[in-house]
Amino acid sequence: MKTYHGLPASPGITIARARKYARVNLLNLVPEDCASIDVSVEASRINHALMEAKRRLENMRSIYAEKELVDALGYIVESIAQEALELVNSERICSSLAVKRIYEKYAEMLRSTGSQLFAFREVDLRVAAELLLGSILGESGRQLPMELADKVIISEELGITEFFELLKLNIKGLVTRSGGVTSHVAIVARCNGIPYVIVPQLNISDFADDSRVIIDALNGLVILEPDDSTLKTYEVKAENYWKALEQIAKYAYEKAVTTDEYSVKVLCNVGNLEEARLASTLGCDGVGLFRIEFLYMRDKPPTVSELRDVFEKTASFFENKPVVIRAPDIGGDKPVPYISMKENNPFMGLRGIRLLLEYKEDLFIPFIEAFLEAFKSHNNLKLLLPMVSRVSEVLETVKLIEETAKKMNIDDSNLELGVMVEVPSTAILIDKFAETGKIRFVSYGTNDLTQYVLAVDRTNPKVGVIYDDLDPSVLRLLSFSMSKAAENNLEVEVCGELASRQLAIPILLSLGVKGLSVNYSVVGVVKYTVRGTSLEEVKKQVPPQVLNSSNSQEVREALKQYLSLKGLALLG
Ligand code: PEP
Ligand code: MG
Repeated sequence: MKTYHGLPASPGITIARARKYARVNLLNLVPEDCASIDVSVEASRINHALMEAKRRLENMRSIYAEKELVDALGYIVESIAQEALELVNSERICSSLAVKRIYEKYAEMLRSTGSQLFAFREVDLRVAAELLLGSILGESGRQLPMELADKVIISEELGITEFFELLKLNIKGLVTRSGGVTSHVAIVARCNGIPYVIVPQLNISDFADDSRVIIDALNGLVILEPDDSTLKTYEVKAENYWKALEQIAKYAYEKAVTTDEYSVKVLCNVGNLEEARLASTLGCDGVGLFRIEFLYMRDKPPTVSELRDVFEKTASFFENKPVVIRAPDIGGDKPVPYISMKENNPFMGLRGIRLLLEYKEDLFIPFIEAFLEAFKSHNNLKLLLPMVSRVSEVLETVKLIEETAKKMNIDDSNLELGVMVEVPSTAILIDKFAETGKIRFVSYGTNDLTQYVLAVDRTNPKVGVIYDDLDPSVLRLLSFSMSKAAENNLEVEVCGELASRQLAIPILLSLGVKGLSVNYSVVGVVKYTVRGTSLEEVKKQVPPQVLNSSNSQEVREALKQYLSLKGLALLG
């Protein structure tokens, strides 16, 4: 028996047989030299590959909740194909080499920035190039071997397209050596309930095919060839875990109210209309965060009428429930092709509200117009501002909204405006934001807040172990800021990933949260946990211990213990 410790990337427990999987690097299969070719044949190969790639991307759509990745990949595939066609015509080289050259050109551009952020996006670029190459090199019909079905997959790394194909084989779990907990593979694994652990020290040759493996992705453990007693213990654990999860799903349709009658809203995070529609049927008490910027990630921004249509439809799905639309959070990890941003440190640069105020005419005003038009007939819409770091940004935005509303002859007096708290300066000065009298609610974006409090890039796997939203420093800042927000009559919500963690519910309730905006797959778990909790009790018992911890392990232990004591523990 050998136990590996790693990063839990998608929760769950599984016991199955292992199968090693090595990805084929299609870029290595491209010939170095291929002159004197028939240009029209090579051009038609690229066009055919583009059609094939689009078909595969469409297939992905039906099983992938994060549609924006599919859109982004589609955009990159088209751009590579377009430039490769030009190269075939001008240089008279074969289609595969043209695709590889375009890929290399962009990969080099991204690498030369030296930023981990761009290194992360290079993965998407490679996936797009390989989608085209798969067809050109005759690999598109390649079936993954059936021996992978029902197995735990052990791999160095995995691309998102391969992962989609593996999902169809009903795989039981995933262990990789590299990757990040915020990677697309991890997100898709979470949406599909596939336990996944990333083990940087993984030695793949230890795993013989068909050896028995336990993945305990609640605690980040991978156990190879467990002894009898470990196996027995985990058989019971796994059965209890999945049974409990099934039973808890029904709580999604109940109210989230504590045993002493404190009620909170369990809202959902969505990224497009399809998700919004789905979320409206899964027990969400509204939308707490619509990441509208994904509509902007293509060759040009959406039109006013397109945006209005999305806002109106989402508002109708949820009728009288709140729908919080976030103004587009462009920049940082979400660049758009029509704004050229050469920044050494994009997370600290022109992003969110800073960028919107810089590009008022082209981006912000059309967005506000669309929002106001929809608001006229759907007053359950609320507006949230991303990446706010100064009070002046709120004042400037309010002025812009008022001027636009006046021009459009729309009454905006009941419009509820909120600020995302993602930057420490905003968390610290929250009372000053409240004093403007212009905002009604705050939504803590703990994903970014964590990276700024801990000075750790949320997309960089090398520092992935430091990135932890349960770090006591993050929780202390939340405690300080949320109490000031509540004193100043601001409604407090959390829309970062922290709200989706069962472990975090007791501490968030004790800090006075009124709204938890979560992934729709965990609505049942979150409501179940709230319903089993007494507010008075958590307030007394949880913060003293948790906020006095020196590290996130101590926080986790304290929270685990609390949930176990109350008989609520589910996710380890
Ligand atoms: C956050 O930062 O917590 C957040 C919800 O925004 P995003 O993850 O889209 O940056
Ligand atoms: Mg954010």
